[in-house]
Amino acid sequence: MSFTGQLLANNHSYAAGFAHGDLPSRPAKGVAIVACMDARLDIHKILGLAEGDAHVIRNAGGTVTEDALRSLVISQWLLGTTEIVLIHHTGCGMLGFTDGDLADRIAEATGERPSFSLGSFIDLESNVRAGIAAIKGSPFLPHKNVRGFLYDVATGRLEEVRP
Ligand code: ZN
Repeated sequence: MSFTGQLLANNHSYAAGFAHGDLPSRPAKGVAIVACMDARLDIHKILGLAEGDAHVIRNAGGTVTEDALRSLVISQWLLGTTEIVLIHHTGCGMLGFTDGDLADRIAEATGERPSFSLGSFIDLESNVRAGIAAIKGSPFLPHKNVRGFLYDVATGRLEEVRP
């Protein structure tokens, strides 16, 4: 049994109480957040954001990949954001494997090696700093106002990663 049916039922209730109507597509707070996809991170709750406030770009690790940069370019050039927040977190799954080992397992099971980087990393703060450097070094982002944080999944607290 898939869980999708339950999700649709949940949406039915959500839509029944939908009060704010259509909102502008430009984020009201002018901010874009790049965060890990980890299920324990509810970015809107963690940061006190509401619908329409911010762009939230998520992937495994919250790494500033080429695709995250692509979304930030759209966010800044077309939708007016001027500020970027990066969020990694304690207990991240990306610390628990190596690209080589996982690629080997996938290749063994499927006969094909992923052509893309799997993006594991060994140090949270270094990966946040690398993300900040990627943003500051990008010629395509006009706004470099970026700060990086670690979210503690045990306390709900954010701590800034100093450059
Ligand atoms: Zn994570």
